[in-house]
Amino acid sequence: MEPWVVSVDLGGTTIKLGLIDPQNKILEKRKFPTNPEEGPEAAIEHIAEVVNEYRKFVPDKENIAALGICCPGPLDHEVGMLINPTNLPKYYNVPLRQMLSDRLNTPVSMEHDAKSAALGEFYYGAGRDQKSMVYVVIGTGVGAAIIMDGQLIRGVKNFAGEIGHATVDRNGELCSCGSKGCLETYTSGPWLARRYQRLLDQESLTSHPTTEIPITGETVINLARGGNSLAEKIMMEAGEAVGIAVATMAMILDVELYVFGGGVSKCGDLLLKPARLTVPKYSFRTVGPHVRLMTSELGEDGPLLGCGWQARQLLKNT
Ligand SMILES: [Zn+2]
Repeated sequence: MEPWVVSVDLGGTTIKLGLIDPQNKILEKRKFPTNPEEGPEAAIEHIAEVVNEYRKFVPDKENIAALGICCPGPLDHEVGMLINPTNLPKYYNVPLRQMLSDRLNTPVSMEHDAKSAALGEFYYGAGRDQKSMVYVVIGTGVGAAIIMDGQLIRGVKNFAGEIGHATVDRNGELCSCGSKGCLETYTSGPWLARRYQRLLDQESLTSHPTTEIPITGETVINLARGGNSLAEKIMMEAGEAVGIAVATMAMILDVELYVFGGGVSKCGDLLLKPARLTVPKYSFRTVGPHVRLMTSELGEDGPLLGCGWQARQLLKNT
């Protein structure tokens, strides 16, 4: 029988926890604000409180055997250290895994959040029964995790999967990473907003609705759903950029399944339909037609189930 484990998805805004039972069901979920300005010690205390509450759900002769946590990168999963996560300045060079393990007196596994989400989806969601899969996150940032023949591909420095900063147009926009025309400059939430705003300014059309509220990626998605032609154009270009990136990955990796998670990808076919139409234009006829793009099945449970899987692996390997 599998052991009871706790999963933690530590994000820039929210910390989510789940108690996972031996049948791999998330029994209890909790969510609280990260309050990044309070630093890691406060977050660890909060996590420890929830873990103690969880103990009452576990039968008498059993216990919580391990905890799995995932966090925004960059991080060193081997050492269990956060390096310099953009939205968590007080967490720079913090040995979070050891701190949690000491506080809870429990083994702790630590992983990059996109990789945990990919593992969750691979074992329990859209990728179950598959040998290989690429999980693509499109939200505030864009990244991917690659699983080939059941193995997570990490690369020499654990940077594998940074598809958000692969160039899809060499004459494109200057990206925050210093490169040009990165996938992220077409599809991330902030870039959707920026592109839409620019189109509005260029066309200076009074026929298009202008609002006092700042435009976000979500605004653009909602406008496109409502038939706003400028927003539709932005989403079409975003989808085409995704299609080019997926075609490139398919040609290099020979992987057929691409699963999309993250805030922007919740818009589903608005993004994936133009992407699906684009993939065959940039790949072999023997490759393109076999490529499948779909949204995540597990949503925010994906990272929690992935962390749970990793926590159990940790127990098996020690
Ligand atoms: Zn870039």
